[in-house]
Amino acid sequence: MKIKPYLQSSWLFLHAWLHKLPNYCLLCEQTADQVLCHSCLEALVYQNDQVCIHCGLALPTFSSRRCGACLIADQHSAYERLYTALAYTTTAVPLLHKAKYQPRQALSALSQLGQLLIEQIELVQADEIDVIVPVPLHPQRLRQRGYHQTLILANYLGQHFNIPVDYHTCQMKRCLNSQATLTKTERTSAARQQRLQNNFVIGKAAKAWQRVLIVDDVITTATTVEALAQQLKKQGVQHIDVCACLRTHSPQSLQRLRK
Ligand SMILES: [Zn+2]
Ligand SMILES: [Zn+2]
Repeated sequence: MKIKPYLQSSWLFLHAWLHKLPNYCLLCEQTADQVLCHSCLEALVYQNDQVCIHCGLALPTFSSRRCGACLIADQHSAYERLYTALAYTTTAVPLLHKAKYQPRQALSALSQLGQLLIEQIELVQADEIDVIVPVPLHPQRLRQRGYHQTLILANYLGQHFNIPVDYHTCQMKRCLNSQATLTKTERTSAARQQRLQNNFVIGKAAKAWQRVLIVDDVITTATTVEALAQQLKKQGVQHIDVCACLRTHSPQSLQRLRK
C-alpha cells in the first residue's frame, strides 16, 4: 500500500492536537513554555556567519566566505549555498533522533528545527526561490517511519516564506542499502555519488524550475544533496541552494565554531 506523505503529515498534526503539545522541554523534561527550555537552547551550538557558505564548516580565517576546499571544488558542485541551523553535537543529536525516529515527539522536534532553520534562511533573501524540494524518502522507508520528516520541514519553510513545496517530482527508484552491505568499490565517494545520482528520478515539472531550495535533515558528506542537485541541473534548473537542520563537523571545525 502506497502511503501518501501528506496523509502522514496530517496524522502527525492530528496526533499532536489530540495529545496536546508538551509544556515541558523535549530534551531535559524541565518545565518550558516552548519546545525547548532556555538551558537546552543555550547548550546547542549554532551555525553562524563564520562558516563556509558552501559546506557549512567553520572557516579557519574570516577573510573568505568559502573554505579552501570549496574554492577548489565549487566548480564541480551543482548547488551554490548551504544553510544549516545547528552543529551536530551531543545536545543536538537527541533532537534529530526524536524528529526522525520517535513519531510521538517528531512534530515538536521538527517544529523547533524548522524554526531554527527559518532563522538561518531569513538572514538572506528567500524570495527568489521558485520551489522547495524535500530530499525524497523511498516508499519503503516511509512505511517503516510512518512520516516524511524532510517534507514536514519543507512545509514549515514553504508556509513561512510562502513558497510552494513539491514532494512528488523528485523520487527515489530503489531503497538503497546501507553502506555496510556495499562492496569496497561501491563505498568510494565517486561510486556512491554516481549510484545516488542514478537513483533519483526527476519528473518533467522540474524543467519549469529556475531556482530550487533542497531541504534535508542532516548534512555529513553532502553526497545525497549533491546527487539530487546534479540531477536537477540536468533538467535545466539554473540555481540550487540547500538547507539542512544539522551539520556534522570535524573536532577542529567544531572547536572554531564554539569560540
Ligand atoms: Zn531543556
Ligand atoms: Zn567549504
